[in-house]
Amino acid sequence: MIEFIDAEACTQCDRCVPICPDLVFDAVPGGIPALARREDCQTCYLCELYCPVDAIYVSPRREPETQLDRQHIIDTGLLGSYRRAMGWKPGKPGSMDSDLSYRMHEDFPGGLGDTWKRSGVAGKS
Ligand code: SF4
Ligand code: SF4
Repeated sequence: MIEFIDAEACTQCDRCVPICPDLVFDAVPGGIPALARREDCQTCYLCELYCPVDAIYVSPRREPETQLDRQHIIDTGLLGSYRRAMGWKPGKPGSMDSDLSYRMHEDFPGGLGDTWKRSGVAGKS
């Protein structure tokens, strides 16, 4: 579940507002987005991925953390750790420079790779 937005890091760009599939955020003119429907968070991490300045912390737990140490999370570099683990560069959604998971489709029988081979698409660049 989303736990907090670091108000000092947030640039109020509002990119997280439309990204969230559960409409957890409300844009606030002149302020950081409000966690208006936090209980609807499905812990998908999309907001963490798309935040260009790593200002969002999503806990892996389904329920709210009861003893959260915000400063410890900030100081230990946890903010943005999911984005880095996914191979996304800061501020550049879609730049998955080290994420090669798309290649799994190349070897699955009957999968996309197989379809591409049969269609002649595979091997073309
Ligand atoms: S995407 Fe990040 S920087 Fe932009 S408003 Fe949301 S929390 Fe703030
Ligand atoms: S983790 Fe997913 S569902 Fe939760 S606030 Fe972020 S984008 Fe929305």
